[in-house]
Amino acid sequence: METLAPFKEVIQEINEAGGEVFKLCFQCGKCDAVCPWNQVRQFSMRKVIRQATYGLTEIDGEDVWRCTTCGRCPENCPRGVKQIDISVALRRIASAYEVFPASVKSARTARASLISEGNPLQFDRKKRADWVTDNNLSVKPFEEGMDLLYFVGCYLSYDPRMKKVAAATARILEKAGVSFGILGEKENCCGESIRKTGSENVFKSLARENIKTFVDHGVKRILVSSPHCYHTLKNEYPEFMANFEVVHITQYLKELIDTGKLTFSGTYPRRVAYHDPCYLGRHNQVYDEPREVLKRVPGLELVELADARNDSLCCGGGGGRIWMDTPKEERFSDIRIRQTIDVGAQDLVTACPYCITNFEESRLNLEVENIVAVRDITEIIQDVI
Ligand code: SF4
Ligand code: SF4
Repeated sequence: METLAPFKEVIQEINEAGGEVFKLCFQCGKCDAVCPWNQVRQFSMRKVIRQATYGLTEIDGEDVWRCTTCGRCPENCPRGVKQIDISVALRRIASAYEVFPASVKSARTARASLISEGNPLQFDRKKRADWVTDNNLSVKPFEEGMDLLYFVGCYLSYDPRMKKVAAATARILEKAGVSFGILGEKENCCGESIRKTGSENVFKSLARENIKTFVDHGVKRILVSSPHCYHTLKNEYPEFMANFEVVHITQYLKELIDTGKLTFSGTYPRRVAYHDPCYLGRHNQVYDEPREVLKRVPGLELVELADARNDSLCCGGGGGRIWMDTPKEERFSDIRIRQTIDVGAQDLVTACPYCITNFEESRLNLEVENIVAVRDITEIIQDVI
């Protein structure tokens, strides 16, 4: 690879992503102090910024791909530097030059699957609604006039663990008498995570197709299960002049309980810790609704983890990292499982498919399956209605 061209590209990309803001960095190192990577290995966003500002980035290195876009350092930076934008800009350049470290190769497979099948998991597009029949449900296709479009998302549509969450959600909606439907094979991945890996064109193509489908079907209000779908539909799709009302399941559960549409008939006598997903909490300030829902569950005792709310510890799955290889000893999700055990919680509950995927894996790796359960908030509600 030629060296001069990437340097020029880096500076140009950085400038396009708001170069002046990056130059505000005065190298204080607060970003490194809060970054979860430094709990498991050395990584310096401060250094990444310094190198990028001067066009000296090792574009084929691991550090370009490390940031999980968790949002902790932007919240703590005294100079308003947009660290996530820098990482995404560098990934765009690496993608353009097609230089990837070995750990990132699986994200390229996800990208290819998104282009061909509309999901990152290499499943057939036609099987996107199979979770409905697999769970003996009768969810209808969305029709204009229904209260809600349920935008299921890729992991809940295909991943065996997460299909249970899609089913729990559908059962709750049915019990509450909500008129809702799904798009089935017409639904595409929302595109949030592939955008963070620098594949802007793939994101744009997925987003445009989804928006067209929403408009063609007369969609007004969209329910999502994933905080990543929530973030991109709510905050990024308006870049295409498309505005729909987007509601996350934790917010919708609170609405259903507040309006009396959802009532409890059972109890859940367990000690539960709630984990704030980065894209629900820090990126969108949804902290209270999930806690209020859990506190209403009869018998449930809610406890807080060591790093909670805007200090929440990232699970490690954002920024496309869910598709990349992370060595066992470097997984943030292992720390989260240990924190759950430390507060004596029996369940680690959250509301994000990436968090659940990572926590389930850590629970197995740490061999604590008999001590801690990992649950989506809908699975708890399903048990008590
Ligand atoms: S916290 Fe902000 S100003 Fe300080 S080193 Fe990091 S990016 Fe630079
Ligand atoms: S956004 Fe999170 S993972 Fe990325 S550099 Fe900042 S603190 Fe680290």
